[in-house]
Amino acid sequence: MLEKIKQKALDEHIPIIMDETLEVIKEIFKKNNPKRILEIGTAVGYSAICFVQASSKDTIIDTIELDEQRAKEALENIKTMNMEKNINVIIGNAVDILPTLKEKYDIIFIDAAKGKYPFFLEQALRLVNPTGIILADNILYKGYVMSDYNKHKQRTAVRNLREYIKEATENEHLSTEILEVGDGLAVTTIK
Ligand code: SAH
Ligand code: MG
Repeated sequence: MLEKIKQKALDEHIPIIMDETLEVIKEIFKKNNPKRILEIGTAVGYSAICFVQASSKDTIIDTIELDEQRAKEALENIKTMNMEKNINVIIGNAVDILPTLKEKYDIIFIDAAKGKYPFFLEQALRLVNPTGIILADNILYKGYVMSDYNKHKQRTAVRNLREYIKEATENEHLSTEILEVGDGLAVTTIK
């Protein structure tokens, strides 16, 4: 079933999590044993489903998706996988929803609009448990982030991803590793 969901997403060019990134995150889960996970960017639920499989039975994932059609497909996929008890899909713009959240999370996975990454980090820092971990996918964005070529049409995204990296690595209260896995994964813990 999971293979089918994955293949359909790939066929439709939905940017689901890359295999090697998922492997790294699974290793992080083994050490962190998360009970509450927040995901920004559900798409069709593929990564959320993988996260449930990689964590304990009582783990809860709140996941936010802006696109109603994708959220609907995510709900169908979650039902097929019998994971309705583990995954809550919140339909709406994370920019509006994040400030309304109050409970803390053990893992926060940022995987949505790149231009909003600095804001997502700010909110994640408010919502993460002191022992929690903030993960940001696509942080190296096909290498654009580390190259000096900034005339690209994606320059707003690149500028915001660089701002995220700067804050995550230079803030003295944070400890951040930028992993060159998949499309780049930033792993941030609180010192
Ligand atoms: N995490 C998924 C892939 C997410 S793709 C997986 O690996 O399977 C990114 C998703 O973020 C897209 O579906 C897009 O619609 C959504 N998105 C983009 N901007 C958003 C925002 N501001 N709030 C909520 N979702 C957003
Ligand atoms: Mg991604």
